Amino acid sequence: MKKLLVSMLSLLLLTVLIPQFTFAAQADIKLYFNGKQLNPEVAPRKIGDYSMVPVRIISENMGAKVSWDQAKQMVTIEKADIYMQLVINKKEAVLNSKAITLEAAPVLLAGNTLIPVRFVAERLGLLVDWDDATQSVYVKTPDPSNGGTTPTPSPTPTPTPKPGVPQITSMESVGDQIIIKASGPIKSKLMYLSNPERLVIDLPGTTFGSGIMVPGAGQMGGVWTANPSISAIRYAVNDPATSTIRVVVDLKVKSGYSLIEDGSKGQVVVQLKNAKYKVVLDAGHGDQDPGAISISGKQEKDFNLTMVLKVKKILDQNPNIQVYLTRSDDTFVTLDGRCEFANNLGANVFVSIHGNKWVPSTSGSETYYWRPESLSLANIMHKNLVAAAGLPDRQVRQNDFRVVKYTNMPAVLLEVGYLSSPNDEPQMFNAAFQDRVAGGIANGIKQYLNLN
Ligand SMILES: [Zn+2]
Repeated sequence: MKKLLVSMLSLLLLTVLIPQFTFAAQADIKLYFNGKQLNPEVAPRKIGDYSMVPVRIISENMGAKVSWDQAKQMVTIEKADIYMQLVINKKEAVLNSKAITLEAAPVLLAGNTLIPVRFVAERLGLLVDWDDATQSVYVKTPDPSNGGTTPTPSPTPTPTPKPGVPQITSMESVGDQIIIKASGPIKSKLMYLSNPERLVIDLPGTTFGSGIMVPGAGQMGGVWTANPSISAIRYAVNDPATSTIRVVVDLKVKSGYSLIEDGSKGQVVVQLKNAKYKVVLDAGHGDQDPGAISISGKQEKDFNLTMVLKVKKILDQNPNIQVYLTRSDDTFVTLDGRCEFANNLGANVFVSIHGNKWVPSTSGSETYYWRPESLSLANIMHKNLVAAAGLPDRQVRQNDFRVVKYTNMPAVLLEVGYLSSPNDEPQMFNAAFQDRVAGGIANGIKQYLNLN
C-alpha cells in the first residue's frame, strides 16, 4: 500500500513535468474570416492564453500554401514573400530564414496542426481581433479603402542611428561561433545561465544598424542557426537607459564557451565548446523480471543489457556524448524509476532496448514512440536498426509504453527482434549480430544529434 502511494505520488510528479499544453486549460472558441464563421474539422480553441486554429484554415481561406514534413514534424507556410517554418511543440520557428520565437508552440491534435492564429495571420498581413464576450477570433483581410488600417508588416527595420553610438551591423551563427560585427569598438559582457542552459551576450551602448531586423515592441529578433547544440538565438534591446542590446543563445545542451574577440576591435566572437548531449540507454527488464524467455530458454533481460553495454562502448568514444544507463547490471528498476532518472538528468535522448515475443512465425524489428516530438528520432533509429539487423522491417509504431510516454525528451523503444522466432533468436545471441546492431543504434543516435 505504501508502495502504491509512492508510485502514485511519482506519477503525479511526472504529470507535472509533461509539457504544459497537455494540461493547460482548453476551451473551444469561434473563428470568423471576413465575417463568415469557419467550422474546421478540429475546433479552434484556446490553449492557455492563446487562440489556436488548424493550419489548414490558413491555406484554404487566407491564400497561403501550407506543406507538412512528417519526419521533421514541421509545417511550412508560404504566401507572397512570407516563408514560415513551425515545428510541433516548439516555440522556436523560422520566418524568412531568421529564427523567431512564437507566443505559443504549435500542437498536433487528431492529425491536425494547430497554430497560434494571431501571430501567423498577422505575419501574413491579415488583421486579427479577439472578442472576449463571445470567445471569438475575427480574422480580416485589410480594407485599403477605410484609410490606414493596413497592418504594418512587423517587424520593420527602422534603425534610428544616434551620432557616435556604435551600430551592430550583423549577427551570425557560424559553426561553433557567434559573430557580432559593429561599426566601431564596443564592449561585451557574457553571462552563462542554467535551467534552461543559455548564454547571454550584453552589448551596452550600442544601437541597431541597417543590416539588422529591429524587433517590434515586446518582440525579439532572431538569428538563423544550424548549430545542433543551439535551439535559438534571439535579441532585443534589454535596457533602453544604457542602450544595451542583449543577445540570448538558447542551448540544448550544457556548453562551455570562450570570448575570442571582445568587441574592442569592432567584433565580438564567442566560441561554444564541449557541448555534451546526455543520452540515456535503457536495458529493458532486469533481476526478478526476466522479460521474454527465448525459444532456447535464454532471458530477454540479458540480451537487453548486453546490447546497451555495447552501444555505450561505441558512444563513449564520442566527446560530445555522455551516456547514462538506467541499469548497468542485473538489477531491477521500475518503469517510472527509469523515466524519472532520464527526466531528472535533463537527458536529450532516451533509447530503450528490448527483445520481443509472439508466435514463431513472427520475425523482425520494430521501433516504438508515443509523443509526436519523438517521431523524427524514431524514424532515424528505425532506419539504422533495420539496416544493421537485416531482419524484416516491422515499421515504426506508436504505442504508449511508459518509458516513451512519461519521459520528457525524444524517446524510443526498440524491439530488435523476436526471441520467439527460430529465425531471429539465434542471431540475437550471436556476438557479430549484436555488434552490428549496436553499431546501428549508436549511429542512429549520432545521426539524430547531427554528430556524424
Ligand atoms: Zn521487453
